Amino acid sequence: MEDRPYWNMEMEPLLNTPEMREIQQKRLKPQLEMIYERSAIQKKYIDSLGVNLDKINTLEDLQKAFPPMDKHEMRQLVMSNMGEGGIEGLLNDFLCAPLNDVVLLATTSGTTGEPTPYFFTQGDLELMYESMARVLWRCGLRPGDTVVHAMGLSMFGGGIPCILSLVNFGAGTIPVGAESGTERVVTYLNIVNMVKGEIDGVFMTPSFAEYVIEKCPEILSVEVKNLGIKRLLSGGEPGAGIDSVKKKIEGAFGCKIYDMMGLTSGFWCSCDHDEYQGMHFVRDDTCIMELVDPETREPIPFEDGAVGEVVGTPLAGDSLNLIRFNSNDIMQVFTTPCLCGRSGARYKVIGRSDDMLKVKGVMVYPAAIDNIITGFVPRVTGEFRIVLSEPPPRVVPPLKLKVEHGEDVPEHKLPALAGEIADKMHDAIKVRPEITWIPPMTLERSAHKTQFIEKAYEG
Ligand SMILES: [Zn+2]
Repeated sequence: MEDRPYWNMEMEPLLNTPEMREIQQKRLKPQLEMIYERSAIQKKYIDSLGVNLDKINTLEDLQKAFPPMDKHEMRQLVMSNMGEGGIEGLLNDFLCAPLNDVVLLATTSGTTGEPTPYFFTQGDLELMYESMARVLWRCGLRPGDTVVHAMGLSMFGGGIPCILSLVNFGAGTIPVGAESGTERVVTYLNIVNMVKGEIDGVFMTPSFAEYVIEKCPEILSVEVKNLGIKRLLSGGEPGAGIDSVKKKIEGAFGCKIYDMMGLTSGFWCSCDHDEYQGMHFVRDDTCIMELVDPETREPIPFEDGAVGEVVGTPLAGDSLNLIRFNSNDIMQVFTTPCLCGRSGARYKVIGRSDDMLKVKGVMVYPAAIDNIITGFVPRVTGEFRIVLSEPPPRVVPPLKLKVEHGEDVPEHKLPALAGEIADKMHDAIKVRPEITWIPPMTLERSAHKTQFIEKAYEG
């Protein structure tokens, strides 16, 4: 099939520019007015803040008028309006579209606690198609390419909404799904490769990709790099953004891995530069992104290298529209041009504000420690615990870590390795930990979200 641009390709060069700021400000008021007219609950909320929407013209006006609102605060706002209509009435009063117009329901992956529901009207699906088209195009996919989907299909935003987006994009879509199991996924990859001679793209989480590297030789008697996979597209969990994991997967599969996240109006994806540069934000035209301080909740200037909680306000979308929604994700932004030459500010995930620790006033995230420890594999197994003697977030220094050393590291080399890790951590996150070594396979493994904290204060 001939190359066919997606419908808003003219937005591409405008991402993260002053012209884009103008487009955003032009779209802000009509979107806020739409929310005010269509969501009874949000109308009440806006009135309770005493906000006059006529006066909101810029991002600064928005920041002054509305506090950031996270998932818990949103739930509180919604539930406080429970009336005779029950949950259905509540949703009709909260969403900006009637519940009858909702044609698809999905959730976030729920790796950070309870999954959050996402509602799609036909209009929301169109928005998602555009977002995904931009991402797929950047990753080098084109209509007519063959894509195998091997992430979770059930409920998860990266499942059916992703499949529909691929179909709308015009990709030859093969929804195998992670639920069908490793053997079936690997067998299908082999069949598709035999039929087509190569596979243009495979959707797979980084942890599943790592598992497939191990299992493929057992199932097919060939290494995974013989499956003709040209690119891996991943999301739902970190991994593609961790250098050591990225290099391991890219080496074994013999292809690039792209990291992506988002739903409907906000969307990020990484680029094909050899070193991970963060994820480019590709939807400035439908979502205003800003950073706030996790403690004071005050705006942090959106400048190269700034770190804060990511707060988003959609400028398009029918059903779920939250003003200054705080994702509680801590990210670092890079606003200078990327080495890959593509447009869009870049974001690196640092951690979750709920996991934040404070060591002598320095904010530390377990995910950031995880990134550093993982970089020392195979001299460590990658498993570790942060031992807290008092409830978080305050930690009296030194920050204590229990780290599993690698199988082949002789005992006399451990003190030097501990020093190396401590130096690296001091450089990266300004904290020098005290490391206690433990043998490999000592810590409990979890198939779900890894628990990094050991609460020694609970006895
Ligand atoms: Zn880039």
